[in-house]
Amino acid sequence: MYDLIITGAGIAGLTAAIYGVRAGGRVLVLEGENYGGQIINTPSIENYPGMPGISGFEFASKLFNQVKELGVEIRFEKVDKITIQPQSKAGDENQVKAVYTDTGTYETKTLILATGAKNRHLGVEQEDSYIGKGVSYCATCDGAFFRNKVTAVIGGGNTALEDAIFLSNICRKVYLIHRRDSFRGEEKQVGQLRSKENVEFILNSRVTALHGDGILSGVTVVDKLTGEENTLDLNGLFVAVGQVPENQAFADIVSLDPAGYIVAGEDCMTGISGIFAAGDCRTKTVRQLTTAASDGAIAALAASHIFLE
Ligand code: NAP
Repeated sequence: MYDLIITGAGIAGLTAAIYGVRAGGRVLVLEGENYGGQIINTPSIENYPGMPGISGFEFASKLFNQVKELGVEIRFEKVDKITIQPQSKAGDENQVKAVYTDTGTYETKTLILATGAKNRHLGVEQEDSYIGKGVSYCATCDGAFFRNKVTAVIGGGNTALEDAIFLSNICRKVYLIHRRDSFRGEEKQVGQLRSKENVEFILNSRVTALHGDGILSGVTVVDKLTGEENTLDLNGLFVAVGQVPENQAFADIVSLDPAGYIVAGEDCMTGISGIFAAGDCRTKTVRQLTTAASDGAIAALAASHIFLE
């Protein structure tokens, strides 16, 4: 029996692990893929207090090692299902939760869901067939394949801006295609991109088709205001149009909002005793590294009040 199981080894989950184990709990982290979550693909973190310029990979690796050294058990297993043990009394905060993975079942007094979110696809025809053949969702992972080539980034958030800055340093030309004429991402980065000679903004526009003969060679872009349609010749297309959560495995236990995020407030409470949601997988307005870490601490301290009883 664990005191606390955390599903997800992103920043929220690993921070929760630190607080859980330091509160005296026996803590297990279950992760279906790699540790670190989305930040692992960020080349340079500029807005985490006290660590300007650290890479996402280095940040996540330091955190992962910190958690391991504190004695947290970490298993790379995908969580398929969660149940609340029927013998437990309804409303009892100490109800035992069973967590089923692809290889085992684990019991815990408290549970923190911190599964983050995954890259949203653009939704154009043939998108999946061009993944790895010109279409990518990670500029830092795949950007180097496009050295001195022509690429485009789609999106208007921080990820798209960061990707465009990163690619502008290695590609001959970078188009930044966004469906509006204002950006969600930081103005400072927009300004940085506007000052680059090899970056061209294509605003109020959508990519409607991909072209190529097995390997991507161009895209159709439609201007939303004029209806004008153009073909851009390019080698790489980096899709940075936000994230979608993957919370279906928990849908029987906790409430999800229409977009699939776990309904929970700033206290990370899900409404089910002893089950918390932390980081990008929950309903929230600000999804940042700092708020993910903050959620991890809040959820784990609340959980510790239950498992220490
Ligand atoms: P985001 O902020 O949700 O932005 C997604 C962008 O994609 C928006 O500009 C959106 O357009 C556009 N978009 C969505 N669906 C689209 C579609 N089907 N076709 C075309 N465009 C579409 O996502 P994000 O940039 O990945 O960032 C996610 C969160 O992580 C944000 O809170 C962000 O601040 C944070 N983040 C932080 C850092 C950092 O702190 N260093 C780095 C990266 C990300 P509209 O604007 O028109 O909706």
